[in-house]
Amino acid sequence: MNGDIHPLKEYKGNRRLPWKVNTMTSGSITLIEQTGLDQHVAPFPKPHMEGFENPDRLRITLQYLEENNALADILTLKTPRATCDEALIVHSPYLVHSVELMSELGSGQLGESAYASESLLSTTLYALGGALLAADLVLSGSTEHTFALIRPPGHHATSSATMGLCFFNNVAIAARTILQEDNVDRVTILDIDDHFGNGTAEVFYTDPKVQFISIHEYDYVSFGLGHYRETGRNKGEGTNINIPLYEGAPDSSYRAAMTKIVAPAIESFQPDMIAVSAGYDGHYTDPIGDMALDSRTYWFIAHTIRNLVESLGIKGSFWVLEGGYNPLVLGPCVRSTIEGLKGDPLPTLEDQTKHIEDEDVVKKNKRVLNRVWRTVSQFL
Ligand SMILES: [Zn+2]
Repeated sequence: MNGDIHPLKEYKGNRRLPWKVNTMTSGSITLIEQTGLDQHVAPFPKPHMEGFENPDRLRITLQYLEENNALADILTLKTPRATCDEALIVHSPYLVHSVELMSELGSGQLGESAYASESLLSTTLYALGGALLAADLVLSGSTEHTFALIRPPGHHATSSATMGLCFFNNVAIAARTILQEDNVDRVTILDIDDHFGNGTAEVFYTDPKVQFISIHEYDYVSFGLGHYRETGRNKGEGTNINIPLYEGAPDSSYRAAMTKIVAPAIESFQPDMIAVSAGYDGHYTDPIGDMALDSRTYWFIAHTIRNLVESLGIKGSFWVLEGGYNPLVLGPCVRSTIEGLKGDPLPTLEDQTKHIEDEDVVKKNKRVLNRVWRTVSQFL
């Protein structure tokens, strides 16, 4: 670890894109992966919540994808290491400096459910590098869709606070970075993680160039954010779309959210690129999330994004891993996502069991979706 810690300055703009990949991809999808470069583990024994966010998530997922020949026609790249300065485009110097200092110390609490280890800084910088590369590859036209298989997640990190297993907001930093380029005026970020992407929402709440759409399990008691009445502020009014669903939401609720709200909202916004905060903790086996999805839902979401990219003439989409804490089903979920992006048919995978949808939850979610649409449609 580098022992020199320098005071960080505010971000002043004009970031140069550092990773120009000369090799064109053989297919239209590139996977960027971080295995072996993610030693950070919060200092808690399993099964404490922090213990679920560990290197097994990436290692077992990549192993599954390789063993099932899911990467046969996909270029796979190792994630490059970003720098602390690159995080400053979104985060305060205090936050970035805190991650540096606590990693030097080797432990300690940085925020609610955000604990340091001596590998925290390097793991977060490699994760950020993966998200930035994923965005750059699509921006440069090297590939149409990219997936950054990285950790730790980032969507709970606000501009000034780490929390919820998140330190640097990878997707927010990547989105704001590509917006520096002349040929990118608008970016849509779709967050499909089980939990509300409060950090990303906060970062772009007044920004008319970023449309943030989050489908999430709404915690009516403790979290306090993510309601559909939160629509953005000032110039960003109408660009924040929250789709809060009831606990236990099944496949049909997510499909309805994608078809009835997400697709028309993106069609109206006409982004140059789509970013996806790809959390898989809505899977029915997840130890932290409480939804009732399986890999079929993630295929549908990816397929919908692919169709939007084609029909609207968008440059492409980049996907950044967020949550998803059952490493045994992350593989099938990521595989389904890739198949959906490729335009391949829905695969039958081992996690897809026949389950009966809870009628009551489906009905309640229908009412929520109607209310969300009434709120959102006035801005479209
Ligand atoms: Zn989550």
